[in-house]
Amino acid sequence: MVKKQLEPLTTPMEKANFHIFPDFCKGCGLCKEKCPNDVLIWSEKLGVYGTPIVKPKDEESCIACLICEMVCPDAAIYIEKKRGKKAV
Ligand code: SF4
Ligand code: SF4
Repeated sequence: MVKKQLEPLTTPMEKANFHIFPDFCKGCGLCKEKCPNDVLIWSEKLGVYGTPIVKPKDEESCIACLICEMVCPDAAIYIEKKRGKKAV
């Protein structure tokens, strides 16, 4: 039996750290669709069903609004806001 590694992949950005759990992401694209700044792009890494997961395209575009985290049906994203950085 394969043991699941419930570890996030983390991308540091200006306003937040973007964490995604590949073992939860099913590659539905909802987060990507709802992000107001088109921050998220497909990654070369694969999720639970062997489909690509998402990643931020750069470090500057994310405004740490948390929408991607809220809309993900599988709780695969955690946006860790950096102290003193407000959503715009
Ligand atoms: S926190 Fe907001 S701006 Fe940043 S990636 Fe998620 S939806 Fe996009
Ligand atoms: S909404 Fe969640 S499950 Fe769907 S692609 Fe985004 S992170 Fe993956």
